[in-house]
Formats: sequence, C-alpha cells, structure tokens
Amino acid sequence: KLYNQLQETKGNIRVFCRCRPPSKEEASAGCATVVDFDFAKDGDLGILTTCGAKKTFRFDRVYTPKDCQVDVFADASPLIVSVLDGYNVCIFAYGQTGTGKTFTMEGTEQNRGVNYRTLEQLFQIAKERKETHLYEISVSVLEVYNEQIRDLLATSPSSKKLEIKQASEGFHNVPGVVEAKVQNIREVWNVLQVGSNARAVGSNNVNEHSSRSHCMLCIMVKSKNLIDGECTRSKLWLVDLAGSERLAKTDAQGERLKEAQNINRSLSALGDVISALANKSSHIPYRNSKLTHLLQDSLGGDSKTLMFVQISPLEKDLGETLSSLNFATRVR
Ligand code: ADP
Ligand code: MG
Repeated sequence: KLYNQLQETKGNIRVFCRCRPPSKEEASAGCATVVDFDFAKDGDLGILTTCGAKKTFRFDRVYTPKDCQVDVFADASPLIVSVLDGYNVCIFAYGQTGTGKTFTMEGTEQNRGVNYRTLEQLFQIAKERKETHLYEISVSVLEVYNEQIRDLLATSPSSKKLEIKQASEGFHNVPGVVEAKVQNIREVWNVLQVGSNARAVGSNNVNEHSSRSHCMLCIMVKSKNLIDGECTRSKLWLVDLAGSERLAKTDAQGERLKEAQNINRSLSALGDVISALANKSSHIPYRNSKLTHLLQDSLGGDSKTLMFVQISPLEKDLGETLSSLNFATRVR
C-alpha cells in the first residue's frame, strides 16, 4: 500500500535506495564504510563525505544491508497489482557494478529477486480473480548492448537488425521479438534460464558483459473482464541497467571506449527522460537512446515508475556512490 499512499501526494515516479552489505572479504579486511541510516526519519540516508561532513539524501524508501528481498518486494508489489489493473509499469535498478542491481532484480535461487516475485504475484492474483478476469501473460527478454537490441529468447540469431516500431498510439514494440506465453511460474523460470544462458553466448566474460549491457525483461499482460467484456493491455518492464561507473582513463580506448560512451549516453538519456517527466516538460526526449525508446510506453503518461538506486557502503566507492545518489536526486 506504500506506493499508493505516496501516489496521492506525488507524481508517478518513486525512488528507493538500497545499500548492499560489505562482502565477507571486505568485512574481514576491515574496509571502512561511509553510509549510515537515520531510522528516526524513515527515508533518510546519510553519507559521510571525504571531507568528513555528512550529506543527507532523501528517498521514498531506504533499505539497509539488513533488509531482505521480501522487504524490498513488499514495497514494490503495489505496482504489480497496478499492472493487472491496466497500468504500464517500469521498475529498474541503477548503480555502480557490484552494488546489487542483479541481486535486487534477478536475485539468486535461494534469494529470489523482484523479477521472479513479480511473476509469481501476477499468477497468484490472476488465479484469485479467475471468476471475473481472464489474463494472458507473455514475456520477452532483451538485451541492449552498444545501442543494439538483442532478443535473448530467439532460437536462432536474427539476421535482421531489431528495431522499435510504433504500432499505434501509446504502443511500441519490436517486430520479430519472441513473446513467450507463460501459464505458471515454472514456465517462467525456464524462460528466464533461456534468457540468461543466451546472455552468456558470445561473451568471454559473462559478468563483465552483463555489467555493460542493459538486461530488460518485458512482461505483457492482456486482460479481459468477464463481466463487462472490457479488454486491456499493459506492459511491465523490469530492467537491470548497465553499471553506471565512469571508465578509468587508462581504459579509455577502442571497444571499451565505445561501450562506455554508449552506456553513458543511454543512462543520461534515461535521467533526461525521467527528469523531464518529473518537471512536466512538454518535450520528453525518448528517442535519444534505445533504452528510453523501448521503455517509452512505461515511462510517463499514467504509467508508474520505480527506480532502485543501488549503492556500496564502502569508503573506496564513495565517488561512485555520490554520483549515483546525485543522479537519483535529479530524477526525483
Ligand atoms: P551488480 O549487478 O550491481 O553488479 P550484483 O547483484 O552482482 O551487483 O551484486 C554483487 C555481489 O553482492 C553479489 O555477490 C551479490 O550476491 C551480493 N549482494 C548484493 N546485494 C546484496 C544484498 N542486499 N544482500 C546480500 N548480498 C548482496
Ligand atoms: Mg549485475
């Protein structure tokens, strides 16, 4: 209910900040940490800056390293209900590589993340409403790397370049992309496996590759109200963004430079779109990147957006942490 309560007083964009715990190695090495949490004022996050001063950031929600996947999903789950009510929704994770974007979105088999829990909840509600509603759920899994879209569910590599088309007002799609119909959570798990296996193909280092591409899960819901016959169609994007860290100067050449420029460009395009929406600007620059163009139907209008800003607690990451928090402040 949290989201809907906030909804009454604010626009359609929420920002939740999640801080990962130090790893075992970092803890035993006694790495210094700089993040503290003000429990008295829920939603406040304090950062001790290098000069020793404390900087405070406000978010709709702040998760400490102790908060678990269940806590996080509980706050995101009202948006999932919105999808079944016909709203378009976009949830994404932003932050430096290693701060827990994939942990929040995908999670692990023991510690499932937002993606799996979302689909589980969609099926659960669809079942509860089966007397009155008929739902058809399908999923696509895409990757955007160097401003090119790749279909991770395609069985054979497409020779044609995948492009975004506008089929009708407020409805964009990528012709030729696989939309896998799913009936239950087991089928979903299989589809997600296919997607993540495909992601590894053609890259010699999977982790590195995934930190430089955006992984985008699109859940499409068609619903029919069995009582009045009304049909709706909605789209939910769940996005694990490329790492937001700036490239070290020494790495700035060749393929790495191109990758970095594309990531930079698409993340700033995302920031521009969200801040234009937040400022109720008359022109929203969706077309500046594949990422924002793909998300267009689920950003703005009456759609709902949730951004997780992921941060590290460590002093050595302070620069990136401040840059992520500033990005988040800009879109709020
Ligand atoms: P990113 O996708 O942003 O690069 P990962 O999700 O891969 O980061 O997280 C890096 C490491 O930290 C992983 O081993 C992950 O399991 C762990 N981790 C991240 N966030 C948490 C958390 N909230 N609780 C426990 N472990 C976490
Ligand atoms: Mg990741």
